[in-house]
Order: sequence, then structure tokens, then C-alpha cells
Amino acid sequence: MKNRIPLILFLIAISFQVQLNSQPKHSQTTLIQNVWILDGTGSSAKKGAVRIKGNSIVAIGNLTPLLGESVIDGKNRYLTPGFIDSHSHHFGSLKKEPSGIAMTNQGITTIIIGQDGDSYEMDSLIHFFKQYPIAVNVASYTGHSSLREKIMGEKNLFRNATVAEVDQMKMLLEEDLKKGSLGLSTGLEYEAAFYSSKEEVVALAQLTAKYKGRYISHIRSEDIKLNDAIQEIIDIGKITGMPVKLSHIKIANKDDWGNAPLIVDQLNAARAKGVDITADVYPYNFWNSTLRVLFPDRDYTNKKSAELAVNKLFDPNESVLVRFAPQPSYAGKTIAAIAKERKESTAETLMQLIQIAADFKTANPTAGGIEALAGKSMKDSDVSKFIQWEHANICSDGAAGGHPRGYGAFTRVLGKYVREQQLLSLTEAIHKMTGLTAQQLGIKKRGKIAVGYFADLVLLDPSTVNDLATIENGKALSTGIEQVWVNGKMVYNMQKATGELPGSLIKRN
Ligand SMILES: [Zn+2]
Repeated sequence: MKNRIPLILFLIAISFQVQLNSQPKHSQTTLIQNVWILDGTGSSAKKGAVRIKGNSIVAIGNLTPLLGESVIDGKNRYLTPGFIDSHSHHFGSLKKEPSGIAMTNQGITTIIIGQDGDSYEMDSLIHFFKQYPIAVNVASYTGHSSLREKIMGEKNLFRNATVAEVDQMKMLLEEDLKKGSLGLSTGLEYEAAFYSSKEEVVALAQLTAKYKGRYISHIRSEDIKLNDAIQEIIDIGKITGMPVKLSHIKIANKDDWGNAPLIVDQLNAARAKGVDITADVYPYNFWNSTLRVLFPDRDYTNKKSAELAVNKLFDPNESVLVRFAPQPSYAGKTIAAIAKERKESTAETLMQLIQIAADFKTANPTAGGIEALAGKSMKDSDVSKFIQWEHANICSDGAAGGHPRGYGAFTRVLGKYVREQQLLSLTEAIHKMTGLTAQQLGIKKRGKIAVGYFADLVLLDPSTVNDLATIENGKALSTGIEQVWVNGKMVYNMQKATGELPGSLIKRN
């Protein structure tokens, strides 16, 4: 029996060794623990932890760290899905700044591009992603104006397209839809599409519907013909039966300020009749666009129209010319200040600036983005009403610079509208930035914290989250967005990009 005890010890030792070896290694998983999980569906927050493996969420709940797993202490902050920006102009900056801090600092992990009728072909986006890794995900619509430019020529857009031209546009659109474009976008207020007929748009929209795509539109007027323009998008939704989204909904005509409840009623009435219409909205009372949108009839030398613009369509005292290539010293000044400098009325200055910009364009045909105005044009209560509409999601409409929305739209909603004004709950706001957006755009496996979903995540502190970007300092980083993950990789950590570039091209599915 002498050997008995050592043998038992030996067996115990062996079995212990086997146990150790069979204990799986979890060095490839990350546990974010000690967080309030707001899953993006609109359900209230639950305390718990989320486990990431590779690019996906693999477990949620009351989880304890596995052996070898990397663990992040969420310190009772909120963990939400990554924000989806349904109307973004950030893409142009990503080649130079692939870390996309303009987006990640406000919690955005997916940008939807191809807006306002302007898009890149899906082929060129696919090619871009092979060459240039970036931090955020991208999905794109196919732009109506881009189709027009390719088929009709850049100088020949100021008319309705012929039947043959529409057929050619359809072929290009179809190619893009087959390659994963989300659908059709229009920018009917801009000259490149302003002269297109509703029938032209409907023909393209019907093809989009056939492919189960969606329609998104900067509508034909945001000011004096707003109601007609809204009716047009409702009609397109009705005729095609596909979901339609009204881009950056606003009321830019002083005479109609305060009418947001009526417009919401109009949209709800269309929904009640079966039209799947939604909207996106950014949280500012000023837009960023070309001076030319201030002339609804595109009559840039008509004094009466200029007077209508300065009296009804924007406030020259509070609207800043953010860019003006022909005379860079005007940038940063209000239209009223420039008028004073030029010893003109504001209406006269408005016409002159447009003329100077047009002459500059003639002399420099390849120049783009010659002028831009931050136009104070909306009433706060209308903006609030639209943000609160249950079928509206949050967008930035921003770029990496210029209007502060490019760096702070989402954090502004969380700071100003949720915490300060309590116009909506944190849960509702997060839903409008994530789950609702994904659902309305048809984006699968994102916008929600759920097992099997992509690990696009934001760790934020609701008590400090805020936007700091202003017109003067458009690139100030937000506070309160502590960490951001895209496809399982941390891309942003305490106001710094990590250098990870895990973004992917999202295709319609
Ligand atoms: Zn737009």
C-alpha cells in the first residue's frame, strides 16, 4: 500500500493538469463589464456586461471574466450601439484622416453617404475600401444628380431628362443597386436636380423599389414651397410602396415658423394611409449650404427675391459665411457685417456674393466648394418638435469641418436635448441614433446590442456628454464619449483615435 498515496496524488495531479489544459484560452475575447446597457431598441437600460469576440457581440448579461480575457471596466457608464449617421458628408475627409475622429468623437460608427443626390459609384467605394482602411463603416445611396451628370453632362442639367436619358440613368442605377447601394437619393433643391420632373424621379424610384431599395431626399424646397415638396416625397412613397425618408427636416421660411406640429400631422396622416415616410433631423437652428438655396426660383439677380431671402429665409445678422474662395477675408463674417463693409444693403450683398462666386467658378472651372453659408434659418421649437417625432432619427448632415454638426450633432442631442432640456429620454435618443435608424434604412445586424450583432459600441457618460464644436471652432471634440468600438475594435479612447481602422463597406441586404 506504500505506493497508494503517491499514485492518488499523481492521478489528482494529472487530472488537474488536464483541467488546466482544457480550460479554453480567451485571449481573443473582450469583456466590457460594469455597464448600463442601452441596447438601442428603446428598452430601458440594464446593468450587465457585453462580451466581444472578433467583430461580433457573443454574450450579454451577468458575465464574469474568462481566463485570459481582456476586461474593460465600464465604471457604471452607459454602453450603447454605435451611432448611425443617416445623412453624412464626412466621407471626403476619410482618405486623409482615416481615423474619422469627427465622427467617432460623437459616437458615430457608421456613416450613410451618397446624400442630396450626390454619390460615388459602388464600384469606386469597393475599390476605395481595398486601398484605404478607415475607422468607420460606410453605406451609400446612389445619387440622382450624379446619374444626371453622367448621362446629361454637367452643363446640361437645367431641364427635364428625356425618356432615353432616364433609361440610361436606370441602367447605371441598376448596376449600383446590384452592388449594394441602399437605394436612391435626391437633392431636388439643388440646380443639378431642381429642373427634373417628378416623373423622372418616380421612374428611378420605381426601379429602386423593384430592388427593395429605399428613397432618401433633400426635398425640392425647405422654405416657400415646403408643403409641395413634402407632398412630392409622400407621393413617391405612395406610388412606389417603398420606405421614403425626408432628409434633415426643417422649416426655413420665417412665415411658417412654428408649423412643425402641422407638418408632423401631415406626415403622420400619410403614414396612416400606408406610406412608410420617416425623416432625419440635426439639432441646430442653422444650416450649412450654398448661398444659392436662398433663391427659391433660382433668380439670383432679382432684387425682390434677394429681399425675400434676407427678410424671410435667413437672418443676415446671425448667418456666417463660412467659406468664400474669391475673397477669403469674408469667411467667418456675417452677411450683415460683409454688407456693412461693402456699404451695401444685405440683399444687394447677397446678390453680389453669388455673382462673385459664379465669376470665380467661370475663371476656375475645377474649383469646388467655393462658398458656403451657415444660414440661421430655423426656429428652435420646430427643431425640437422634429427631434421628438417618433419616426425621426438623428443625423449630422455634417462634414469634417465647417458647420459644428460635423463634430457635435449627436453629442449635442445627448447634452442639450436630453440632459439639459429633457425633451426626450436618453433611451429614446439612443434609439433614434441606433436601432430606429438601422430599421428605417434596412441595415442589418447593427444599431442594436444583441448576440450575433456587429460589435459597434459606444461607452458614454450621460452626465458629461456634450458637444463643444461651434462655428468658430468647428473641430472641438465632444465630451462624455469615452470609448468607441467598430467591428469589435476600439477606435476611440478618451478623446483620442486609437489608430485601429476596422471600418467596412455595408451593402444593402
Ligand atoms: Zn441636404
